[in-house]
Amino acid sequence: MNSKVFSPLPVNDQACGWTQALPSRQANASLQDEHIADFVIVGAGYTGLSAARKFAQLNPNAKIIIIDAQRAGEGASARNSGYLVDSTLNDGHMSDTGLQQYREKYALNKAGVDCVSRLVNEYQIDCDWDASGKFHATAVPAHEPKLQRFSELLQELELEHRLISGAELKQRLGTGYYTQALWTAGGIMLQPAKLARAYISLLPDNVTLYENSPVLTWRKQGADFLVSTPMGQVKTPKLLMAVNGFMASAGLKRKRAFPLTLTASMTRPLNDSEYASIGSPSAWGLLSAQAMGATVRLTQDRRIMVRNTAEVWPAMNMSASQLNQRKRIHLRGLKRRFPELGTDLFDSCWAGVTCISGNNGQVFDQLESKLLVAGCYNGGGIGLATLFGEQMAYRASGHMTDAIAMIQARPKPNRLPPQPILRWGVRLRLIRDSFIARKEN
Ligand SMILES: Cc1cc2nc3c(=O)[nH]c(=O)nc-3n(C[C@H](O)[C@H](O)[C@H](O)COP(=O)(O)OP(=O)(O)OC[C@H]3O[C@@H](n4cnc5c(N)ncnc54)[C@H](O)[C@@H]3O)c2cc1C
Repeated sequence: MNSKVFSPLPVNDQACGWTQALPSRQANASLQDEHIADFVIVGAGYTGLSAARKFAQLNPNAKIIIIDAQRAGEGASARNSGYLVDSTLNDGHMSDTGLQQYREKYALNKAGVDCVSRLVNEYQIDCDWDASGKFHATAVPAHEPKLQRFSELLQELELEHRLISGAELKQRLGTGYYTQALWTAGGIMLQPAKLARAYISLLPDNVTLYENSPVLTWRKQGADFLVSTPMGQVKTPKLLMAVNGFMASAGLKRKRAFPLTLTASMTRPLNDSEYASIGSPSAWGLLSAQAMGATVRLTQDRRIMVRNTAEVWPAMNMSASQLNQRKRIHLRGLKRRFPELGTDLFDSCWAGVTCISGNNGQVFDQLESKLLVAGCYNGGGIGLATLFGEQMAYRASGHMTDAIAMIQARPKPNRLPPQPILRWGVRLRLIRDSFIARKEN
């Protein structure tokens, strides 16, 4: 294998509201000098951190190194909207094959939810865990049949849910913007940055985490891999690439997975009178019935988060003025739903890079002897990343598990058109979806 250059590298903005809400944390040292390790993981998000923890537990005498280009856990893993979900909105595949496929997809998502749930219980992780379910909603009566078909599908699967509309919906959400919502029991809202922090703190003693150490190149050297950062190198017989949205940057899965940049804004906590003005509802999380419609949350500490932008963004971060442009779109979404609130409530706006495939397939591969890659969770990375990370650790330790069999039975990402056709195609699709969802974002 020739030396692979990692490009472009991630650069996080420092504006993520979930991270800003946490106490500051001293970053670990960056990688310096020459090292040898039994297992190296590139990428310290949910996937990499879960893999490191589990591999260390399975191999207590092994030396494990995990490296992140930025601060650990502060990529998509801290920037996401915090929905840990089992069911996903489906337009109602009622054929037997469609139903079976949905069942399998559901089972995998559920395994992800259970995996995080187990960790949260076992280690008493504080991540503002809220198991009150999630809403899928529409503000357009013409889109309501989609929710009704989803309801029929959930009925078929015997999954607890309820369609809600009118005054009851307005009271529950504190906004009369939506005409109908479907509530499902199996959805957990959490604080994503708290969860990522917890995963860092759970790393066993035989794991060394290096931060602010971008991997610039990596290559095969005899039976080993040589991974190089600006000030150090590490040699290992086993390498896991857990870089998700940066898979293509690593020269991996370029024809199967691509990065998508999402931006979100979050308000400061509403004060008592602002909170009363919207009817003092309990916390909730809502996903749009339309692909490009807004994801909106009211958090336990009374913040409102709006995420209603997704784009093919050529650079690896956004400047303050680029974020400000997105913030205006988020503000429009906030005002549509809560016209009684002020226009200066957002105190954070950030971008995050996630990974998408053309058919919702995920990556869980051994590309060549001892080179592993996991990621591309499409919309569902909290549970799946945690699960895939753990299962990669089993795989790298030579174990076979039921969960590995379930993951391997899922469709792999299908082949994508070459660039620049892919980029244009995704842009066109986003424009089309945004148009359909123009009253939902
Ligand atoms: C705005 C947003 C909202 C989302 N909402 C949800 C949601 O509500 N629910 C849900 O389930 N999922 C959601 N997702 C997706 C979810 O966040 C991701 O699927 C998940 O975080 C993936 O975890 P990961 O560890 O694989 O990747 P990441 O968290 O992206 O971690 C990869 C790490 O690799 C590092 N890296 C990259 N290149 C290099 C290099 N050269 N050298 C060293 N390190 C490198 C990065 O710095 C990063 O820390 C959302 C994503 C975004 C961006």
